Amino acid sequence: MKVLVINCGSSSLKYQLFDMETENALAKGLVERIGIEGSRIKHTKAGQDAVVTETAIPDHKVAVKLVLDSLLDGEHGVLSSLDELSAVGHRVVHAGEKFACSVRLDDAVMAALKECIPLAPLHNPANITGIEAITSVLPDVPQVGVFDTAFHQTMPKHAYMYGVPYRYYENYKVRRYGFHGTSHFFVANRCAEIMGRPIEDLKIVTCHLGNGSSITAVKDGICVDTSMGFTPLAGVLMGTRCGDIDPSIVKFIAEKEGSVDKADTILNKESGVHGVSGISSDLRDIEDGMEKGDERATLAFEMLSYSITKYIGAYAAAMGGVDAIVFTAGIGENCKAIRETVTENLGFLGASVDKSKNDFRGEERIISSDDSKVKVMVIPTNEELVIARDTKKLVSC
Ligand code: AMP
Repeated sequence: MKVLVINCGSSSLKYQLFDMETENALAKGLVERIGIEGSRIKHTKAGQDAVVTETAIPDHKVAVKLVLDSLLDGEHGVLSSLDELSAVGHRVVHAGEKFACSVRLDDAVMAALKECIPLAPLHNPANITGIEAITSVLPDVPQVGVFDTAFHQTMPKHAYMYGVPYRYYENYKVRRYGFHGTSHFFVANRCAEIMGRPIEDLKIVTCHLGNGSSITAVKDGICVDTSMGFTPLAGVLMGTRCGDIDPSIVKFIAEKEGSVDKADTILNKESGVHGVSGISSDLRDIEDGMEKGDERATLAFEMLSYSITKYIGAYAAAMGGVDAIVFTAGIGENCKAIRETVTENLGFLGASVDKSKNDFRGEERIISSDDSKVKVMVIPTNEELVIARDTKKLVSC
């Protein structure tokens, strides 16, 4: 069975084609600048160099056609006919309270996803556009939606409610949703496999640390709390997002800048590691700055490691302990300094890092010392594989 996985943004479309017998990605690629000048597709067949084609890509339907043409290409393609394609799985950011697991897409599901647009005005319209583009080009191929919010739907009400008047929940569904659920699900389950124990017996904190970051408490295999909230702005300090702040700062900045929209942009795009350091949102640049003695780079690093530490400590309290901590995504997989600092900060939980084991990037490894009471590990995330697996499962039954 061959499954195409699509992750559609407002002007981009990422894809991977999986052979589900082996779970290997046969090809992957990225369409960029859809509807903007300079659009292009970068397609990579497994084992070959990437091929970049610059061409006009006015909309997502054209993007989808280009993706399918690339998959069928005689030299760089991996399909001899579109009949080989069994299903398409889509990443969809927000399913509100409507779906706690992946579902096959039909008219009723599409209507439900459209109802969630006010909750994710930047992401859901793009995801829906991707689904509609596939439907128009491949009307008979079954499609599945896999939701970033779904894994977090098991949170207890006391963890997902905010201390604002209850009517905002009743009338507008204002509550914590959480994001990166597919990634947290994948690494938590992989962690249990590595530990050789049933996930139902484990207390795991999963740290998805990338440009956007979130931390999740996974107890007995289900999410019991997560750091992102009503939107992906909440939680730990991020590349350009502020994370948790006093909500009154929004009004204060809005008054200084002249509009709530400007304040929102500042908190989403000009804050976080970038805003504090004044250097970059990329932790590699922050580490370079620290080496040169830049005080604000050091401050950004310390704020980041402190906020991650606090969340892990809070979730250990929420779960009554912690058996394992997992680092994943760009920072979690690659930045040994953050892993080392955070693990050392958590010595009070019985966690200790083995510095020689931690000296690598981008691989699956245990980094805690042999006598550490808490297993600390790095697990590269693979959200696309989760989407492909769920898609296979749902179209096979
Ligand atoms: P992601 O959003 O998961 O793609 O993560 C992207 C982020 O990972 C970048 O902005 C960097 O902050 C971080 N990152 C990637 N590679 C490294 C590295 N070698 N060292 C430190 N941070 C890294």
